[in-house]
Parts: sequence; C-alpha cells; structure tokens
Amino acid sequence: MNEFLDTDITFLKGVGTMRAEILQKELKLFRFEDLLSYFPFRYVDRSKFYTINEINQDTSYIQLKGKILNIEEVGQPRSTRLVACFSDGKQEIELLWFKGVKWMKTNLRIGEEIVVFGKPNFYNGRINMSHPEIESAANRTKSAPLEAIYHTTEMMKTRRVDSKAIRLMMTNLVQHQNYLVPEIFSVEMCRKYKLISRGKAFRFIHQPPSHKHIEAAQYRFKFEELFFLQLPFINQKINRKEAVKGIHFMPKNPLFKNFVANHLPFSLTGAQERVLREIKTDLCSGQQMNRLLQGDVGSGKTIVAFLSVMMAVDNGYQASLMAPTEILAIQHYISLKELAEKIDLEIGLLTGSTTPKERRQLHEKLQSGTIKLLVGTHALIEDMVIFDNLGLVIIDEQHRFGVAQRAKLQSKGKQNPHALVMTATPIPRTLAMSVYGDLDYSVIDEMPAGRKAIKTAHRFGFARQKVWQFMKDEIARGRQAYVVYPLIEESETMHYKDLNNGYDELLQFFPRPTYQVEMLHGKMKAADKEAKMKDFAQGKSHILVSTTVIEVGINVPNASIMIIESAEKFGLSQLHQLRGRVGRGAEQSYCILMSSKKLSTNAETRLKAMVKTNSGFELSEIDMKLRGFGDIAGTRQSGLDQLKLASLNEDAHIAEEARKAIVELLTTDPDYDRHQSLRHFMKNKQGYKDWEKIA
Ligand code: ADP
Ligand code: MG
Repeated sequence: MNEFLDTDITFLKGVGTMRAEILQKELKLFRFEDLLSYFPFRYVDRSKFYTINEINQDTSYIQLKGKILNIEEVGQPRSTRLVACFSDGKQEIELLWFKGVKWMKTNLRIGEEIVVFGKPNFYNGRINMSHPEIESAANRTKSAPLEAIYHTTEMMKTRRVDSKAIRLMMTNLVQHQNYLVPEIFSVEMCRKYKLISRGKAFRFIHQPPSHKHIEAAQYRFKFEELFFLQLPFINQKINRKEAVKGIHFMPKNPLFKNFVANHLPFSLTGAQERVLREIKTDLCSGQQMNRLLQGDVGSGKTIVAFLSVMMAVDNGYQASLMAPTEILAIQHYISLKELAEKIDLEIGLLTGSTTPKERRQLHEKLQSGTIKLLVGTHALIEDMVIFDNLGLVIIDEQHRFGVAQRAKLQSKGKQNPHALVMTATPIPRTLAMSVYGDLDYSVIDEMPAGRKAIKTAHRFGFARQKVWQFMKDEIARGRQAYVVYPLIEESETMHYKDLNNGYDELLQFFPRPTYQVEMLHGKMKAADKEAKMKDFAQGKSHILVSTTVIEVGINVPNASIMIIESAEKFGLSQLHQLRGRVGRGAEQSYCILMSSKKLSTNAETRLKAMVKTNSGFELSEIDMKLRGFGDIAGTRQSGLDQLKLASLNEDAHIAEEARKAIVELLTTDPDYDRHQSLRHFMKNKQGYKDWEKIA
C-alpha cells in the first residue's frame, strides 16, 4: 500500500463524487495512481499561434488569435446551436456550439481580441471548429507552453469532463502536498538505463516544462511497460535453459566446410552468415537450442536450415525438417536432394501419401542411420517414425504448427535434440519475443543481392484480358506465371468451381501446344503434385493455376508473374506470402491483384498497402492496425494490451534495453534481494498475481 497512490480519486480537489463516478465508469480510474497513469495522447504548444490560412485536412488541435465578428443562434427552439463567425484578420471560420448555447451566447463578446483553441473540421468545403476553448487575449491565464491533451468519451464531454478538466485534475494531483511516488527500480538500474524517477516522470508527462521532459518521461514509462511485458518470458526461458541440457556439438565440420567451399550455389548474405554463427554458438554451447529464425519471404532461410543440418551430420546426428504442406515438403525434398547429392548425403521424404512399402524402407534406413535428413509433413511425428539418433529438428513456417507438434518431433531424439523453427511471418522482434517467448531469436534482415523489387498492381475484372496478354508477352520472353484462386480452407465440401472455370478459360486463351497450362490443388495425389511441381520448376509448363497450396515456401526462380484472383478475399499476410513466390530470380517480377469493383474499405486498404510496399514488416504493421494485435496468432495472452505508450515497432531499442536489464536482474539477483521495491511492486501488479509461482 502506498498512501498517496492508493487514495480514492474522490478526495482530489476538483473531482468530487459526480466526476469520480464518471471517471470510474468511463475510464476505469479509481485511485490516484490510475489517474496518474492516464497519459495524454499528445501535446500542444500554447506559445504558437496559427493562421486560418495554414489549416489543412491534417491539422490537429491548434490555437488562433482574432475576433468574433457576429453570433447567431440557429435551428429549432429545442435544438439550437450557436454559430459565431471568427476572423483572424485575414480569413474567417465558424465556431460552433451545440451545448451550453445560452451560456456561451451571453459570454462571447463581439469584437474582443480572443484566443481560440480546438480542432478544425472541414464541412462542405468550409472550416469550422466545434466547442473550442476560448480565452480573452488580454487576461489569458499564463499556462505552461506545452499543454497535455487527453482522450475523453462523448459522455464525458457532455458532462464537461473534457481534456481541459482532466488537465486541471492532473495539476492538482502532481502538485498535491502529499505527492509521493515510490521508485520501483533500483538506483543502480535507473542510473544505468537512464531512467528518471517515477515521481518525476508522472509530473513531466502531465505538465511538461519542455519537449525534452516529455521525452524523458515517455522513455521511462515505455521502458517500464516493456520491462514488465518481457519479464515473464525471459524468466521462463532462463529457467528452462538451466533445466534442459542439450547435445553438445563440437565445432568440427568437415562436411559443412566442404559444402561451403565447393558446392554452395551462391555466396551467403551477411545476415545468413550471422544467423549461422548464432546457430553454431547454440549448438556448441552444451544447452539445447530452441531458436526462431525469422526472415521475410525469399530471404533464404532454406539454405541456412540445410547448413545447420550439416553441422548435425558432422557430429554424427540425424536431422529432420517438417513442413506444413505436402507440396512444400516435396519441394524441399527436391531442392535439398539436389544439394545433398553433391556431398553424398542421403535424404528421405515422408508424407501422408508415402506408400507402406516406401515407409518400410524409410523406417529401416532411419533406424540404421543411413538417412541423415528426413523431410516431411506432420507424418514425421507419428509414433512409428523412429530415428537412430536425432540431433536437430527444423520446422518450416512455424505459424502453421503448434508448440505441441514441435515438442513431439523433438521427443523423437534420445537426448534433447536442438530445434530451429523458421517463419516468414514478419512480426516485430519484440512481439516475436513474447509470442514465441521461450525461443531465442534470429533474423535474416537482408535479401540476396541482385533482386529487383516486385512490381505490384491492382486491376479489376474487366482488365483480365489485358492482364493475360501481358502474361503472354512475359511467357514469350521465357518467364513463367502463377494464377491463384482463393479456396481458403480446402475441405471435402468445398467445390473447385472458380479454380476449374479459371483453368478452362486460361486454356482457351493459352492454347496447347504453344502453351502448357497446369493445375495444382491440395486434393491431388502426392505423386501428381510432385510431377506438376517438378514440371513447373523445370520450366516444362508455363502457367501454374492453383489454389493457395502454393502459398508457403514454393521456390521457382524463373516464375516472375503472380496473378491473384479475388485478391480481396485474402488477408494481408497471405497476399504477401503469395507474392513472395515471385521475385526470386534476377528478372523483374510482377504481382497483379485482381478484384471485383465493389470493395470494403478494409479490403481496399489491404490492396493499396500491397501496391505500395514490398516490406513484410510494413505490411504486418498495417495488418495489426487493421486487425488489432489480438487477432495475430497467439498474441492474445501475451500481455500486449498492457502497452499504453510503447510501440513494439518503433520502440524496439527500448525493448532491447529493457531486455538487458531483465537478464541482468535475473542472472545477478534472482531472488530480488537487492531489488526489494521491484519485488514489492510486482506483488501488487495486475497480471502479475502469479508472479510468485513463476519466480
Ligand atoms: P525463404 O526464406 O522464403 O524460405 P528460400 O530459402 O526459398 O527463401 O530462398 C529463396 C531463393 O533465394 C531460393 O531460390 C534460394 O536458392 C535463393 N537464395 C538464398 N540465399 C541466397 C543468396 N545468398 N544469394 C542468392 N540467392 C539466394
Ligand atoms: Mg521457405
């Protein structure tokens, strides 16, 4: 208990029972600390005056100086509004009041020099400001130059608990005679991480003497938020690392060296090399590796996986690679086999459609240790799949699997196999830390050299012939194309009408034998899928018409056109994944999003975003804004809603600092002996109720 912070807001000067009730109901503010933690969303510089001339559509709250020219009450007797014509000497705008009309009418003086403060609106090409704050210029109260602006609800506004009212409460609060906010971090930590005290931070955030003070206060609170967001995850990770011993790999690596020196088809990017070093360090640490490898589509995760496999094989262990779809597993198998043959490494493929006879052979070779790498779908985790000595498991496109499946695959090792999970889901690092909290994190943040940015366009149905003609021209230049139809979930009941119709139409426009158009979908037999994929990969077919089975991972560098039909039906990350199937070679690639003319605002935003940027990170940010954090797989429980000031994208460096502080705390003072105030704070903190159990 802290007397000051825990005081009921009713006792604050300027609040009272009625306002307290409103604040409790509308904003869930009960105690002084709640009120203090209700941060302003922006600040206005009250020393600056604008002219009407400078106002545009984006203008937010501003201050104008001038005179009222005339006042008029308009409307029906029961619902009148007050309209005042305000001039800054050069131009005029309307000031509007819908409430308190009588009072305003008697208090507004025509011709007096006044200061008007509010947010301009555009209405019918004219500018107005409703319910502005008004002060006489002569006896203007000397307010601080920087004024905090607070969010208020409609209900609060009508009850006159507006931003100004809250600002006054905050003044009373931070200047309260009993003002006392205990520090929660140790002196040492505050010094090291450049945190101003909690008490000062609350003062500065509500009543900032300068922009510098705002920054310092915001930094402190962002740090605090990111500290408590990450603490449980890091704690968990450290505990697990201590508990679980891993297979100790030696840095001997003849196979690896041989492959890199003689068979690597390209030179690795700096990011790939860095990630490989991180993986190697883990593998040789004696502890179990559990690492998330994130890299945008096309950044080259597969080769990193393959080189990691070699580290395992060099140490006498087997590896397995699990992919979410059969097509992807097949593709990995085909391309990895080509690489593996160069160093006489035997690899196998196991999917749901592997025949019993093939299975028997596979099982034998696995148990005898002949097969070094087994690629497959979730068929890999079935009980009868037994390895001789599994040392490394790799999971591609992690977002399609659950934690349980990873654990199951790992359990196939006699010791504790290392795990590398790969994802193209462009989640910010900090978010990755909390969603996949128990994993270490690596990122490939660099594309292979020589890639050209994919050009993306949005077209409506009537332009389809033109689009197809374009496709013809590109095919004439030796390129290949994908045409994708939405079929979000492939189930028995789903019919393939769009896909089949599209295929038929394409066949007419691209007649045989000049053109080879092939169709691929999830319900086909594995052997057929493999054949179609192979034909396309080897350039034997020109166009691959398909459902979203090709969404993840497929890699055919010569394919340079991606046409997505009914693109409005796809989510942003899916569109980005699909687009990622092209732009994998040196040629200019194109992605064309076909949609109907009628689009929801949300769909329009998605398609526009796709046209505008190729960056998975930017798209995921937009996606988060559209859908909210809550919708992104696994984030609901991650405590992200605790974040008021901090942004995982923009404040990544603060998150990093907080992480350092946490690691230091947990490793040097795990019992919080030297961090009593922090311990005390956490005991009472919302959402940290189980803290004792975790710690
Ligand atoms: P993703 O990260 O999406 O899984 P892939 O591993 O499929 O990407 O790689 C995409 C393409 O880039 C592949 O054709 C691969 O051979 C190629 N590639 C990977 N790394 C490099 C590199 N360092 N230089 C040139 N091409 C590369
Ligand atoms: Mg991939």
